[in-house]
Amino acid sequence: MIKKDWVELPPHSQSYKDGVNYFLDIAFTKGMVEEEEILCPCSVCCNDSWEVRYVVYDHLCSKGFVKGYTEWIYHGEDESLIDLDGDSDDENSHPLKTFIINSHP
Ligand SMILES: [Zn+2]
Repeated sequence: MIKKDWVELPPHSQSYKDGVNYFLDIAFTKGMVEEEEILCPCSVCCNDSWEVRYVVYDHLCSKGFVKGYTEWIYHGEDESLIDLDGDSDDENSHPLKTFIINSHP
């Protein structure tokens, strides 16, 4: 599960900066990367500009994330998994998970 509670924190706080590095780690390992650059999701670039890591870091720490970009589909968060989640009831335990736990010796 991707942690995003830091996105709402003040950009100058250490927790927010740690979160931006966490985001960048995911983006550069699982997301779309072109020649060391990723789409910058800051409020100015709006996922419309390719930037290197330190520039994206700088943008996110000064301008913050673009409004509404809560599912990081361009940065490693699986689009199909998000859609599947809409069908399942999060309050109930996962049937498959329960099965695995129960059948384990
Ligand atoms: Zn930017």
